[in-house]
Amino acid sequence: MQIEETTDSRANWQDQANCLGVDPDLFFPERGASTREAKEVCRGCVVRMDCLEYALVNGEKFGIWGGLSERERRRLRRQRAQATRRTSA
Ligand code: SF4
Repeated sequence: MQIEETTDSRANWQDQANCLGVDPDLFFPERGASTREAKEVCRGCVVRMDCLEYALVNGEKFGIWGGLSERERRRLRRQRAQATRRTSA
C-alpha cells in the first residue's frame, strides 16, 4: 500500500513494498468485488507484516493492507484484544 507521506519510519518498509507501481485501486476494491489480485501481490511482499501492523496501529478502515481486508483486520484486532484480556486476567 503506497502512503504519500514518506518522511518517517514508514519510508523504510514502503521502499520494499511489492505494490510499488501497482494500481492503488486494486487495493481498494468496490464493495463485494474480488480482493484476490491484491492479496496475491501482498502474498509475495517482504514487508507484509510491517504493512499490516501499520494498518492496525493506525486503524486503517479501508482497503487491503498486509494481505488482509478490513473485515479480516477487524477480526484480528478482536482476537488480539481477547488474548490481551486473557493474559492480563
Ligand atoms: S503487504 Fe500488500 S499492501 Fe502492504 S506493502 Fe506489501 S504489497 Fe503493498
